[in-house]
Amino acid sequence: MQVNSTYVGRFAPSPTGPLHFGSLVAALASFLDARHHNGRWLVRIEDLDPPREIDSAPAQIFRQLEYFGLEWDDDPLFQSDRLEAYEASLARLETKGLLFSCTCSRRSYGAVYPGTCRHLARALDSRIDGQRTGQAASATRIRTENREIQFADLFQGTQRFELETQIGDFILKRKDGLFAYQLAVVVDDDAQGITHIIRGNDLLDSTPKQLYLADQLGFKRPIYGHFPVVLGEDGHKLSKQAKANPIALENPCAALNMALKALGQTPISTSSVTVLLQQAVQNWDRQQIPKVAGVSINSLSL
Ligand code: GLU
Ligand code: ZN
Repeated sequence: MQVNSTYVGRFAPSPTGPLHFGSLVAALASFLDARHHNGRWLVRIEDLDPPREIDSAPAQIFRQLEYFGLEWDDDPLFQSDRLEAYEASLARLETKGLLFSCTCSRRSYGAVYPGTCRHLARALDSRIDGQRTGQAASATRIRTENREIQFADLFQGTQRFELETQIGDFILKRKDGLFAYQLAVVVDDDAQGITHIIRGNDLLDSTPKQLYLADQLGFKRPIYGHFPVVLGEDGHKLSKQAKANPIALENPCAALNMALKALGQTPISTSSVTVLLQQAVQNWDRQQIPKVAGVSINSLSL
């Protein structure tokens, strides 16, 4: 197969459990968009939060992807192997004077962090780990600027966010010493040369944070496409946290067809996963992705 070196996509599950139907949709969307454009498709295990993870999940996720015929390129990257790279990026941001330490509790402010501890920047920012200095444990935040972050979403059109007032200074390293998803994802997307990020719109408001970080670290911005997430019977997003049922393994073509339907694509009548995916790659049409906030699982029966 001819590989288009200008497209590198990825699927980046957190190993908090087996894939559920919502994560199958995410895997399939990123796979189809990549393969339709003759791109590469990588898998990255986002295992940065041990208390929330299940040891057996990565192996289970790989088995599920194989079962659904979603073959990835290269060896999967594990974020737990990448701590030095995150620390190095944090150090670069610190050199730019963008970081400060913050001990505010989540309860002490509303939807957007109001910048309370910004002024403590120089006093604390070289001592991220408060224990060493006897101070209360603190998180590391990045200072935002009063400007707009704009990007052209492949499926939802132009998106605009006011960085300081809508997003606010956000956490890059948590009080418990763990690196935040926002930092790790940007460092790895750059390191893996990811050009296209296709994921659920539950992550839409992470994108301005990630673009801001990419800008500050001097990384090339990837292209984003956010598809509507699948909503369960209760109207909420299917999630591993909510103990969404792992996808039934008995009928991979039925599950894949339901996932195609969630993405607005035409189901394919076959009992062969290989045939189904070949056809789905060929048919993939970004224009057909539903332009709604969420797709109800009840609407997907075949
Ligand atoms: N690891 C994240 C999750 O499972 C997704 C990261 C991403 O696609 O940017 O929700
Ligand atoms: Zn604070």
